[in-house]
Amino acid sequence: MKRKRKEIAREGGPETSWDDLLSGPGEPEAGEGAAIVLSVSSGRCRVFRDGREIDCTIPPAIAVRQKSALAVGDRVLMGEEGGVCRVERVLPRHSVLARPDPHRKQVQRLIAANVDVVVHVVSVKAPPLRPRLIDRYLIAILRGRAQPAICLNKIDLLDDAERAAVMQLVAPYRDLGVPLVACSTKTGEGIDALRELLEGKTSTLVGHSGVGKSSLLNALDERLQLAVRDVHGKRGTGQHTTTASTLHDLGGGTLIIDTPGIREFGLWDLDRDSLRGYFPEFEEAAELCRFNDCTHVHEPGCEVKERVAAGALSPARYDTYLRLYEDLGQER
Ligand code: GDP
Ligand code: ZN
Repeated sequence: MKRKRKEIAREGGPETSWDDLLSGPGEPEAGEGAAIVLSVSSGRCRVFRDGREIDCTIPPAIAVRQKSALAVGDRVLMGEEGGVCRVERVLPRHSVLARPDPHRKQVQRLIAANVDVVVHVVSVKAPPLRPRLIDRYLIAILRGRAQPAICLNKIDLLDDAERAAVMQLVAPYRDLGVPLVACSTKTGEGIDALRELLEGKTSTLVGHSGVGKSSLLNALDERLQLAVRDVHGKRGTGQHTTTASTLHDLGGGTLIIDTPGIREFGLWDLDRDSLRGYFPEFEEAAELCRFNDCTHVHEPGCEVKERVAAGALSPARYDTYLRLYEDLGQER
């Protein structure tokens, strides 16, 4: 069960990266005999240990805060009482995927735990690509300490010129070393590359509904048979119609967590100061700003603003930075 956290190979290595944000306490001790949580339902969960699936009860102390205290992907220690398996302890996580509770924004709801790679799936057309959304997802993924990747799906819907335009839009992410895969579940383009990216890792696909996450998972492994939306946006009846996260073992150490539609990714607990860390490409210029603590918003002599104006830094990324900076100010 013990695995080393694998870094995504970054060919040519970007100048700037999020390594500082990702380096933390590192992989916790997996613990002898730890089981991995496959799915969680009220008061119970299904775990995998020693080659078999076992149903377990969740003790009240954990169940009370269930959605936050136990998640798919968690490593747990188990005990047995009167022939019934129960979760004894949840081991420390090396990453989390979470969102704010819809009713209490400051409460974090766990979607998955111990994910190595989170792939943000976007559709390049129908619905169209919105780079600002990528920025928000990227920050949320990095905050959870997982490695981000971007899948540009439905690439079959673009002609050559449109394709070149999309590649231009996502160039800033490529420059930051985020793996990008253009995919089509209709032509099969990019599916092998996506599979390679996920091989031997625990991963999950996130993104708005209708971008093709279920179709991609089915293309990665036909045994999954997940229901796909029809043209009206309704889900067909596949083997599973997921309402909760589920972990699938694709063999060879590749684990995929299928998450229900995540509409909102919260950037809770983020403040204006830490926001800058998520725009590492500004760093070099920031050293030349007139003020040490330049926020790159209103100060004179701001090198970041200069470089954005000159096109040396992405205006789209800077625009996201400004908007988030504004949002974070209002939330205080
Ligand atoms: P999900 O909500 O993200 O899981 O998206 P689905 O997998 O249910 O797909 C939504 C719709 O997009 C369905 O009608 C799919 O047939 C369609 N779709 C998915 N992948 C592709 C693709 O690569 N190209 C095209 N043209 N359509 C796709
Ligand atoms: Zn500045």
